[in-house]
Amino acid sequence: FNVPTPVNEPVKEYRPGSPEREAVKQALQDFRSQETDIPMYINGQEIRTDRKFRVAPPHDHQHTLGYFYEGDAQHVEQAIEAALSAKDAWASLSWENRASIFLKAADLLAGPYRSRINAATMLGQSKNAYQAEIDSACELIDFLRFNVHYADEIYRQQPNSSPGVWNRLEYRPLEGFVFALTPFNFTAIAGNLPTSAAMMGNTVVWKPAYTQVLSAKVIMEVLQVAGLPDGVINLIYVDGPVAGEVIFNHPDFAGIHFTGSTGVFQQIWGTIGANIHKYKSYPRIVGETGGKDFVLVHESADADEVATGLVRGAFEYQGQKCSAASRAYIPSTLWPAVEAKMKQFLGAIKMGVTEDFTNFINAVIDERAFKKITAYIDEAKKSDQVRIVAGGNYDGSKGYFIEPTVLQVNDPAYRTMCEEIFGPVLSVYIYEPADFEEIIQVVNTTSPYALTGSIFAKDRYVVEQVTKQLQNAAGNFYINDKPTGAVVGQQPFGGARASGTNDKAGSALNLYRWVSARTIKETY
Ligand code: NAD
Repeated sequence: FNVPTPVNEPVKEYRPGSPEREAVKQALQDFRSQETDIPMYINGQEIRTDRKFRVAPPHDHQHTLGYFYEGDAQHVEQAIEAALSAKDAWASLSWENRASIFLKAADLLAGPYRSRINAATMLGQSKNAYQAEIDSACELIDFLRFNVHYADEIYRQQPNSSPGVWNRLEYRPLEGFVFALTPFNFTAIAGNLPTSAAMMGNTVVWKPAYTQVLSAKVIMEVLQVAGLPDGVINLIYVDGPVAGEVIFNHPDFAGIHFTGSTGVFQQIWGTIGANIHKYKSYPRIVGETGGKDFVLVHESADADEVATGLVRGAFEYQGQKCSAASRAYIPSTLWPAVEAKMKQFLGAIKMGVTEDFTNFINAVIDERAFKKITAYIDEAKKSDQVRIVAGGNYDGSKGYFIEPTVLQVNDPAYRTMCEEIFGPVLSVYIYEPADFEEIIQVVNTTSPYALTGSIFAKDRYVVEQVTKQLQNAAGNFYINDKPTGAVVGQQPFGGARASGTNDKAGSALNLYRWVSARTIKETY
């Protein structure tokens, strides 16, 4: 292999007085002190409309960070036109020439743009410095560099030939355009979904969540500086159903690269199915969707490790990770020690704005999420099935703050054990050690999702048994660790069942979905 060997981007620590902390403080100040203009980018042009929407930090919602411009159906048409016009030139470029643009983008993010993308993520999505660093810097950089490496592996895969017959596989991009539809919670995912499809020679219409537009703008700036040709990735801010109406009726719609909630993905799949006769090719449908990620604890586990895994797994980024630990099954013998340790940790962590650098918990993304999450908490407070172990308070007056909340429920089918809440709420069910076999079945059947999950146990027979019996319950399975924090190039990420099509982001498995191979047999 002669492509640059990717190594995971080291995580910077942002210690007081460090150059990286000073740089990110300056970038935060720059965003705070001016109103950022956030246009759409169609065919490389900045597009503004008369529908301006305010962007505010979720932890300080009265402050104005800037404005983005919403487009309509015509802008979606223009973005598709731009993608289709750019397609032939982009697809016929050698793959090395495409790849070097993304390697350059990774270097820009690792160097001069690191503090800017992190500050945009800290302010726009309310991530603390560490959460922003592992997302918008390290993970996005890793996606870009490792995808080049995986693309190289794919392009080298060739069938056998024999004397007189020379067989070849041509990894062509899909015929048409790809639609990247991205969520608010990871800047890295928002950046990966359009760029991975583009790496394989596709051109893209990209619609991010309205709550991620600030960091989306920085990604687009970086791609332009890196030399991405006009029209290859077209960034639009258009209401989801309005965009969908145009895109899912278009004959050149070739695939969707989606990450978001299960309900939206199922609706989109239904629309694509109903329109299937309208398309030139069967579209590729790749979706990473919701989760209700479990932590199963065996009595042989270490209580301190479990408590650490639960607090970090459930509450980092306010529980707004698709992989967040949100239901735990703990034996009665271990629960007193786990509960005491969790309370000790939770008593020590701070909640507040992201710019402070000492707050572990920041705000949830917007008012809609705040209302949804607090409704679950209010219902739990009234239920005789639930004991509030920790947290339960919230205050949306300045920012959308919700305390990390632990609910002990006495019914493993109680709704907070089964439904995705997507906030800082962990539900625990305490079982008797003699019921362990039964609990494995409960884990497997009480939620429709299968994204991530953990087993904490020192007993290797138990580890083996659970790993086998829960083989379909999680696309990413962890032994003695929290179920979050997958690293590109180390733990390819994705889930099955209601959690997605399991096309492992950050792996060759994902990139294969963005090519449509032609086999050539030549006799000579
Ligand atoms: P969401 O489903 O609300 O939105 C995702 C995208 O779809 C956004 O761009 C949104 O504007 C758009 N959209 C919403 N409704 C639409 C419609 N009717 N038609 C077309 N587009 C529409 O998700 P979100 O709140 O941004 O993200 C959180 C969700 O994403 C959670 O469910 C989480 O589990 C999931 N997620 C999954 C993974 C994974 O890898 N499995 C990773 C991150 C997030």
